[in-house]
Amino acid sequence: MLKVGVLALQGAVAEHISLIEQVGATAIQIKRKEQLADIDGLIIPGGESTTIGKLLRRFDFIEAITQFSDQKKPILGTCAGMIVLAKSVEGQEPHLGLMDIHVVRNAYGRQQESFETSLYLKGLERQLQAVFIRAPLIDSIGENVEVIAEHEGRIVAAKQEHLLAVSFHPELTDDTGLHQYFVNMIKQYSKETHHTKALSITN
Ligand code: GLN
Repeated sequence: MLKVGVLALQGAVAEHISLIEQVGATAIQIKRKEQLADIDGLIIPGGESTTIGKLLRRFDFIEAITQFSDQKKPILGTCAGMIVLAKSVEGQEPHLGLMDIHVVRNAYGRQQESFETSLYLKGLERQLQAVFIRAPLIDSIGENVEVIAEHEGRIVAAKQEHLLAVSFHPELTDDTGLHQYFVNMIKQYSKETHHTKALSITN
């Protein structure tokens, strides 16, 4: 069974664990960098990106997650997790700097600080329930990045190979769609890695 880790330093961890289990994968709380060796994909949850970034540095996760990504193991960043993944963050230094997106924090106005809506997600090919809480938006993307959802003309979900980032909290609804999509991505990438390994053995 596929193992999906949820970075459990700060933020909405339990809800992701529950949705991952609902789509038939094993979910593991990740508190130490050594645990990354046991998982096939990683979720960086929503919460507060400055706090998550500080804890990543304190517990020596930056290089470990970068290596995890170098192996093309899928990473999903939701809300603050998306900010943590971004190569560029408006007005401040990036955290992991892995995904070629420029994000703006707290990009929605006061009266819209939090709201729930449904969005069409390319690849899932249906509407997905999404909760936005002091959400960031993706202001611009690099050429290898694909937009997979928009809300009122703004980019709110994007994919770059094995990296997936969404502005919203998919885990605060009962909709398992995004978790199913992410688990499918992990299946696809674990096949490709095995295939490459098999090739290097036969060569
Ligand atoms: N506003 C938060 C930040 O900048 C993100 C909010 C969230 O994850 N719901 O980190």
